[in-house]
Amino acid sequence: MSDSIRNVIIIGSGPSGYTAAVYAARASLEPLVFEGSVTAGGALMNTTEVENFPGFRDGIMGPALMDEMRAQAERFGAELVSDDVVEVELSGEVKVVRTATGEFRARSVILATGSGYRKLDLPREDALSGRGVSWCATCDGFFFRDQHIAVVGGGDSAVEEATFLTRFGSKVSMIVRRDELRASKIMQERAFADPKLEIIWNSKVAEIVGEDRLEKVVLEDTVTGERSDLEATGLFIAIGHDPRSELLAGQVDLDDDGYVLVNHPSTATNLPGVFAAGDLVDHHYRQAITAAGTGCAAALDAERYLAELE
Ligand code: FAD
Repeated sequence: MSDSIRNVIIIGSGPSGYTAAVYAARASLEPLVFEGSVTAGGALMNTTEVENFPGFRDGIMGPALMDEMRAQAERFGAELVSDDVVEVELSGEVKVVRTATGEFRARSVILATGSGYRKLDLPREDALSGRGVSWCATCDGFFFRDQHIAVVGGGDSAVEEATFLTRFGSKVSMIVRRDELRASKIMQERAFADPKLEIIWNSKVAEIVGEDRLEKVVLEDTVTGERSDLEATGLFIAIGHDPRSELLAGQVDLDDDGYVLVNHPSTATNLPGVFAAGDLVDHHYRQAITAAGTGCAAALDAERYLAELE
């Protein structure tokens, strides 16, 4: 165990974690950032072009954007460690954070572990992410102008994504497992009324096909088992997302879906000195810029909390 007690430990290395690190480092708090062992850089490491992060008029590749954020945090003195945090004790005045190899202590902690989109777990799904396969209509819809787009899922968010995508696509096909939608009545009515939206009932995606880009999806009828091709060049997977809050259960207050509850508009959790930011907190927006915004707020909240301790 390191004897020193840090000002702040940041867990997570997406836009929220790195932005918190930039602000905390520039406030001379010398933050220690645990980036995660496999997915340092967060969700944008799995995508290609990001066109909606302000400041890049020609767009920027997701991994390049995250490299810039990382380098910016490092430039101001953030200490970055590519390890997973495996355990935390957050209730005391001194917080304890453990990795597989060490134990670290700090007066404040910023939680920024993000959330994961649920996947179909099919071959080619990851390989074609950012190349026709997407989990975010707001992020990627624009790339599919005048194309045939498929959306998987039957809940409110799937209908919301599908109706939003009709602004861009020549046609949008919703692939729904059952013979009804789970979405609320008002969302269903919106879907049924949209002339560009068709619903393919009793179907699931059996195969994602394409070398460099998505070429088509193969559907399987969930009743007859019969297979058919859907010549879509965009596939949006809208079957939900899970906040990465397993570490925190029993310590920090979570909502029914596992998102960390904060005292809006601050990033304070129910535990003094523990702040949370980004998609770990956010059901609604789930954008890089909103994650960066709350990461900034978390660093400012931690800074004020530490100042009051003195
Ligand atoms: P994340 O980016 O998810 O980062 C969380 C980090 O925490 C990860 O690095 C992970 O390794 C780390 N972590 C988790 N658990 C631990 C642990 N126990 N110990 C240490 N580290 C841990 N948004 C846009 O604005 N524009 C886009 O074009 C866009 N495109 C997208 C494309 C794809 C394919 C995806 C999946 C998302 C896209 N998004 C886009 C959404 C955007 O990526 C997210 O909203 C944003 O990354 C959330 O940032 P975050 O910091 O909250 O979490």
